Amino acid sequence: MKWTEDRSTNVDDRRASGGSGGAIVGGGLGTIIIAAIVFFLGGDPSAILSSGVSNSGAQTEQRELTEADKKIGEMIEMITAENEETWTKIFAENGLQYRPARVVLFRSNTDSGCGMAQSAMGPFYCPTDQSVYMDMSFFNELQQKFGAKVTEFTVAYVMAHEMGHHIQNLLGTLNETDKARRSGRYSEAQLNQISVATELQADFYAGVWSRVTGDREKSFIEPGDLESAINAAEAVGDDNIQKRSQGYVNQESFTHGSSAQRKEWFMKGYNSGDIKQGDTFSQLLR
Ligand SMILES: [Zn+2]
Repeated sequence: MKWTEDRSTNVDDRRASGGSGGAIVGGGLGTIIIAAIVFFLGGDPSAILSSGVSNSGAQTEQRELTEADKKIGEMIEMITAENEETWTKIFAENGLQYRPARVVLFRSNTDSGCGMAQSAMGPFYCPTDQSVYMDMSFFNELQQKFGAKVTEFTVAYVMAHEMGHHIQNLLGTLNETDKARRSGRYSEAQLNQISVATELQADFYAGVWSRVTGDREKSFIEPGDLESAINAAEAVGDDNIQKRSQGYVNQESFTHGSSAQRKEWFMKGYNSGDIKQGDTFSQLLR
């Protein structure tokens, strides 16, 4: 990935304060936890989020950002800017107006509009405050536990996937899936299928973003970049995660799609460059 000159002002870098800075959303029984869309954990994300809510804020531990930290922060600002430019263009071409998401970088835990954000959740998108939450330590885990070969473009792919959920939020897709989830009309297995369709569409949008950004900024995507996005998409496939964490694969419990599906939809997005080709729902929920 060749860095561009663009930098976004929508990145909120909280890494200098180690824990949460006090006032955490609620705590206790009355708290309404709104489900965030987590990057790769299965199950009910609201359960993960609520387990992170405690009554008191963790101690705020200030620390200086190293030069390497600052460089990463700058890269995130650059990738965020390229998301803004690309999606503004695509939305305009479809007669829509794009509203940028915020990106929050944090260490260990921080407040989010969806409850307490924790590193262990992996990167996620919170629809309530239209923000992507990310602790960079996730990428170590991706490499060490899930066998991905992490490059700068791996980070771009993960962010583009999260931005894909923001696109779904702006287009009303998340509202639809949320309604389906609350309706009580679907079985657990069917809800998992809806989740898989949602995640694969985010991968599709990540592919569209890669394509359109590469067309706009000619040298942005370098040899090996697409391979590293595909490699990461495969590493976070449910079958790979299940094999590595529990030793067997249970397809019914898939929430994000298999490695093959994640690669397939990312590439479908990349090859078409057309957001209209990404109807994962009608393809999967027949
Ligand atoms: Zn996702």
